[in-house]
Amino acid sequence: MALLQISEPDQISEPHHRNIAIGIDLGTTNSLVATVKSGIATVLKDYNQNELTPSVVHYASNKITVGHEALQFRTTDPKNTMISAKRFMGLDVDLTSKNPVKVSSDILSHLKQIAIDSLGETPIGAVITVPAYFDDNQRQATKQAAEIAGLNVLRLLNEPTAAAIAYGLENTESGTFLVYDLGGGTFDVSILSLNKGVFEVLAVNGDTHLGGDDFDKLIYDFIINKIGVSPISDIEEATLMIASRNIKEALSMEESSKVNCKLNNTLYSLEITQNDFWDLSKSLLNKTLMLVKKALRDAKLTINDINQIILVGGSTRMTNLRRLLHDCFHKPPLTSLNPDTVVALGAAIQADNLAGNRNDELLLLDVTPLSLGLETMGGLAQKIIPRNSTIPVTRAQDFTTYKDGQTAMTIHILQGERELVDDCRSLAKFSLKGIPPMTAGVAKIRVTFQIDADGLLSVSAVEQNTGVMSSIEVKPSFGLTPEQITSMLNESIKYAKDDINTRLFNEAKIDAISLVEAIEQALQTDHELLTNNEEQQILLLIRQIKTQIEGINPKPLLEDNAQSPRTILKQLSIRLNEVTSGFASKRMNKAIKAGLSGKKIEEI
Ligand code: ADP
Ligand code: MG
Repeated sequence: MALLQISEPDQISEPHHRNIAIGIDLGTTNSLVATVKSGIATVLKDYNQNELTPSVVHYASNKITVGHEALQFRTTDPKNTMISAKRFMGLDVDLTSKNPVKVSSDILSHLKQIAIDSLGETPIGAVITVPAYFDDNQRQATKQAAEIAGLNVLRLLNEPTAAAIAYGLENTESGTFLVYDLGGGTFDVSILSLNKGVFEVLAVNGDTHLGGDDFDKLIYDFIINKIGVSPISDIEEATLMIASRNIKEALSMEESSKVNCKLNNTLYSLEITQNDFWDLSKSLLNKTLMLVKKALRDAKLTINDINQIILVGGSTRMTNLRRLLHDCFHKPPLTSLNPDTVVALGAAIQADNLAGNRNDELLLLDVTPLSLGLETMGGLAQKIIPRNSTIPVTRAQDFTTYKDGQTAMTIHILQGERELVDDCRSLAKFSLKGIPPMTAGVAKIRVTFQIDADGLLSVSAVEQNTGVMSSIEVKPSFGLTPEQITSMLNESIKYAKDDINTRLFNEAKIDAISLVEAIEQALQTDHELLTNNEEQQILLLIRQIKTQIEGINPKPLLEDNAQSPRTILKQLSIRLNEVTSGFASKRMNKAIKAGLSGKKIEEI
């Protein structure tokens, strides 16, 4: 998802009072809360001086435990210990007491309490970070979790943007930055470009199942292999897994590390060096580089175009990873900020900004990754908000009824770049009912799409003559991964020509159908104005048009040439228009005569 930075009108703040606001990095593995104190972004510590809160919640019958204290239950009571809830945000899971929104809200409540204890007052609001690829539903779920936790959400902010803010990169003239985020279980790469104070995300890529845990597993397998003994119980397995993680983390500081583990009642001791770890991890690290290169390709950039590499996520402390990135980009990555805290710090700066404590600062806004629109006649997708629109954004378009006396209308909301409804992602449907019966084309239905600053979509439809209205907040049923977004974009490019031809055909078809329907109706009332010959000619053309429409399969591959079904259909419609032009003027004369005889035109 791309980002833009725009300036916001000056906000007035009182000289001596600061509104305290917090930034929260709600992570898959670890979460943090930070604030700006005396102008400096600072992570808030819990009563044990911990900066990181493991994103783990244990549910006992009468007690909820969050964070470090919940960690022990992963081995003793795994069934009631919820980990990695973020992975499931926005998915339709059954609403038990331990659904991802509830788990996240319990983590957020805990972080809020850390903030209150540390600051001595309740913050006025919070900025919460989300992955750049989170869709409406995942953002909606995050916001909901925050509201349940009693937090006033100032804004949801993309994680890579937060990292860039923490490094103060918006203060540089211009540049292209790569944000490499390797957390506990996920990998995200984003490419940001900065130009005259405006940030834009050029590309995102990643792997939702690649992170620090996989490196732990490499060491775990290495140990079992070396000593030739496997854990015999779940507890032994979990203990060895934790030991493996400790070794991995130690190897970021030391040349080698020793593991002592008790397996099957025997004590084993083993030394692991940075070189051992390098050999083990090479292929996983290269896999992340492949994804980095993919993102560069998507952004149409090369390694030399990147001015800075920003490291995010605890796993980027691994020395082997830093070395690999240094070699690959021919320059060292930025490491002056702590990679576990950089996102929370950026969120705190943004929160401080939104709380009105700075009046010279810039605000960051996002853009939509995929177009949003609705279904129109003939199974066509009409785009309302094009992809890459800066948010918040409101766009409206007017539609009308297709049939006489139509009293209801279904609004089918779509996401994607393709021309046909079937090729787009269906987000939601709602209906506008109670439209008073009117002639086709008279009703004026204004459909408004609105995406707020957090990327949440709401759609409303109002019949302008009567004020009848209906609206919906969009909660799509499944989240999209970065791969899905990329593949939807790729398909739209691949099928662009077919899509346009199909759209043109469908439009020609809709025009032809409404022309035919209008003429058939006129024939019913006024066929006596025509000679038999004229009437036969019209009926023949109508039959030809109908045959032409019926003979086409619903998704034809159409070349647009003289023989194409669209061209034939268009020519038939033009012919029908010509042949009936005399008929139309005769009907007009009849109407005028009736008018002169004392009737109103509308009554005819
Ligand atoms: P998330 O964004 O998924 O919540 P974090 O950014 O907190 O995750 O990263 C957690 C991961 O970072 C874990 O896999 C942890 O083992 C790893 N990690 C933390 N410190 C180090 C270190 N010193 N060396 C290597 N990996 C580390
Ligand atoms: Mg993270």
